[in-house]
Amino acid sequence: MGEHHVPLQIDENNNVTKVGHDMGGSYEIKEAVQLELFSTSSIDIYEQCILCGIETTTLKTTHVDFRTGYIEGAGQLCRECYMKGSAEGRQHISIPKHYINSYPNDMELGAKVRQFYYENY
Ligand SMILES: [Zn+2]
Repeated sequence: MGEHHVPLQIDENNNVTKVGHDMGGSYEIKEAVQLELFSTSSIDIYEQCILCGIETTTLKTTHVDFRTGYIEGAGQLCRECYMKGSAEGRQHISIPKHYINSYPNDMELGAKVRQFYYENY
């Protein structure tokens, strides 16, 4: 087994521009490619929600004027946390799941939902 050496052509910026021999199927590199050896997690490019900590869909590079859910002086909120505090977010209510089975009579269920609403919202 012989050792194989592959010549590299390196330009003035230390970028590899060519791999291999001219006569032996060399590979020309058209533009310098920055190789990412350690994949950085996407958390590095997206803002985190200041309330719940999840990764938002807002890029850190997005100007604050073009963001949704950005609170000046505080930071970025995810959509869910942002909606909680908005008028639109308050137009929905949640009822305990067991209500559906606990009150098989629709009229009774309706009364319980209404009661729950007045007690909790
Ligand atoms: Zn959140």
